[in-house]
Amino acid sequence: MSGKHINIALFIPHEGCPHQCSFCNQRSISGAVKKPHSEDVKAAVETALRARDCAGAQLAFFGGSFTAIRREYMLELLDAAQPYLKKGQIAGIRVSTRPDAVDPPVLALLKQYGVTAIELGAQSMDDRVLFQNGRGHTAQDVEDASRLIQEMGFELGLQMMTGLPGDTPEGAMASARRLLSLRPDTMRIYPTIVLEGTPLARLYRAGNYIPQPLEEAVQLCAALLLLCEEAGVPVIRLGLHAGGEVQEGYLAGPWHPAFRELCEGELYYQNACSALQRILPQGGKAVLRVAPRFVSQMAGQRRRNLERLKEQGFACRVKADASCQKYEVKAERQR
Ligand code: SF4
Repeated sequence: MSGKHINIALFIPHEGCPHQCSFCNQRSISGAVKKPHSEDVKAAVETALRARDCAGAQLAFFGGSFTAIRREYMLELLDAAQPYLKKGQIAGIRVSTRPDAVDPPVLALLKQYGVTAIELGAQSMDDRVLFQNGRGHTAQDVEDASRLIQEMGFELGLQMMTGLPGDTPEGAMASARRLLSLRPDTMRIYPTIVLEGTPLARLYRAGNYIPQPLEEAVQLCAALLLLCEEAGVPVIRLGLHAGGEVQEGYLAGPWHPAFRELCEGELYYQNACSALQRILPQGGKAVLRVAPRFVSQMAGQRRRNLERLKEQGFACRVKADASCQKYEVKAERQR
């Protein structure tokens, strides 16, 4: 198996983080989550090496504040990765951090230790939304940090959230446009989930925060996905992973184990509607042709897209067609 695009991921909790972002449960889980040390880094890489060909794989330190954790601890983790980097068993190191925890000295250190990609938790590019959610940084910090990261030759990843208190779908689209104007190499998009032990959980219980319904989050994230892909920026994650913090502390919000598939399905549904309206304005039977890898997205989870089309008067079958581009739907009338 090719090692391309594989992340050997370790979650690094930020104990003693001075911030309290509305959605973050680090304070309530610190102590409950085991902090990885050098032996855990080695064990993770060794396990991955035994399990597969890791050429092209990156060691990823996720958790949000890598450059803000204690310096000795940061260096312990980076040191543990060095033998694998030197032997070419891993292709690089990926870290995620806060936009205001990036400066030239820390970036120089990361470079020296073979870090190749840095992801910034931007979350929003609206200062009001950032303030309301206790982020403790501004949109300008995101722009400044992004520039520094790119100038020092790292791959830049940007992460944003939707459905934060004070944000709107239009606001999220505007944030995405501003983030894309920074020309990141990758994007991640996370709808806000209410986790136990967070300020958001208190707001939600008091009736002062209503999470985005799943359907609304899917429509917004589908539009964001299209925006990023049209700008040539791959979205490497859409929606939180199953397990970990979600499994432990889910309280409310638009979480789904196959969130990305729902968003891709939404784009197929919208394109099928347009294609069908053109050939069958009065409704009728049709075959929908799509790229082979997207047949299930066209049908939708539990054939939901086909059901929705039926409600609008279109009885459709889906066929794989290798000549179709991603998201393209060719509709053919059937007798
Ligand atoms: S998300 Fe916010 S509160 Fe949580 S660790 Fe990062 S900076 Fe701290």
